[in-house]
Amino acid sequence: MIVETLAVGTELLLGQTVNTNATTIGVRLADAGLDHFHQSVVGDNVERIAAAIRLAASRADALIITGGIGPTQDDLTRDALCAATGLSMVFDEDYAARLRQWWARRGREMPESNLRQAQRPEGATLIVNNKGTAPGLRLRVDDTWVFALPGVPAELIPMVENDVIPFLQRQGGGGDGVVVSRLLRTWGESESKVGEMLADLFEASTNPTVAFLASSGEIKIRLTAKAPSEAVAAELIAPVEAEVRRRMGPRVFGVDDDTIERVLLAMLEERGWTLGTAESATGGMVAARITDTPGASNVYRGSLVTYATELKRSLLGVAGRLIDEHGVVSEEVARVMAEHAGDVLGVDVVIAVTGSAGPDAQEKAAGTMIVAVATPEEVRARTLFMPGDRERVRTYTTTAALHLARLAVSGAGWTDDVVQRWTKPPSS
Ligand code: ATP
Ligand code: MG
Repeated sequence: MIVETLAVGTELLLGQTVNTNATTIGVRLADAGLDHFHQSVVGDNVERIAAAIRLAASRADALIITGGIGPTQDDLTRDALCAATGLSMVFDEDYAARLRQWWARRGREMPESNLRQAQRPEGATLIVNNKGTAPGLRLRVDDTWVFALPGVPAELIPMVENDVIPFLQRQGGGGDGVVVSRLLRTWGESESKVGEMLADLFEASTNPTVAFLASSGEIKIRLTAKAPSEAVAAELIAPVEAEVRRRMGPRVFGVDDDTIERVLLAMLEERGWTLGTAESATGGMVAARITDTPGASNVYRGSLVTYATELKRSLLGVAGRLIDEHGVVSEEVARVMAEHAGDVLGVDVVIAVTGSAGPDAQEKAAGTMIVAVATPEEVRARTLFMPGDRERVRTYTTTAALHLARLAVSGAGWTDDVVQRWTKPPSS
């Protein structure tokens, strides 16, 4: 059973409303094991909606349309269904009576425009909307089931769950089982490098399929399997996941909804180590990311934001001589910041950041950022070369600092092959 979704609404094209219906329905179709091959958005225009309906009817077994079934003039989905099929519009007296009752019960007079909602293409079946007044519609167009549902998510979701998906499953669509995805989260390589490292898996795998997604310096590898049951899907995914993990090594830091903050805090908690931060160029961004995580207080104690050089001296004990010799944007200074903050904050592990975030160079070229991590076992510092503007440099450095802390705490080390994406100077 191939299902297609179509969201109607000019506000979606203008970017004023996020098309959350697309993700909501996508997740539910996947859970139900229904194939979902196309998803589109069209504005409030009868001809364009009708064309989108005809296209979907030509290639899918079912089409789910959301939006444009309300009472106003810009709600055109019903008209477009007629235009696409040549069916005439009929007026549903029963539904009109129910609408009038609905308003009467609330002691109010119904605006006549509401009667638009009692119109339907001839032969369409109404689908009850328990959360609103506009009913959904189901209509057979050639060999395709077409559903027209409200755009409002709170009305739409129960209708998809209680009506549309069970209906499609009864048509035999759910017989093909479930679609299960597993996300492996990585840090340390670019998307293209990850693609190269896994190229043969990508080429060879049809079930599970392998896909790559990049966000804020982290690359996610998605494995998606289609199977009769969740257990069989898990069996299909397991060997491919094992091979991805073997190749990616410590670059893999989590799965599915894991975040680097949660993974790092859990690791520290397991080791019984407390955490603190000492930040210059990131101005507290590392601390903010950590404290965004519920339960951080089990591990995290606090931060010193020593933006001015003078404070690096007075609060963190960075010797003037060291600054004269190496500058504040140096691994030497970052190392001392991390070590001394451990004493001042009374913590086992410190993440320290200094650097030149731009736009103007400070001592070193903009984007030259230094991260140091002190653990009870050792203190290490590394220079990172971050591309982009100030915001990107600071955000990516924050993420990198959390990952370098994870690698240090886990004992995996900062081997060049894992961290080289950021530690190689741009010219080389
Ligand atoms: P109404 O009876 O409210 O007019 P409708 O079925 O005609 O319902 P629309 O007019 O298209 O739906 O949208 C109503 C509201 O629902 C929008 O203003 C928007 O907030 C929300 N909405 C519509 N489409 C989507 C979508 N694809 N994703 C998320 N929200 C949406
Ligand atoms: Mg509307």
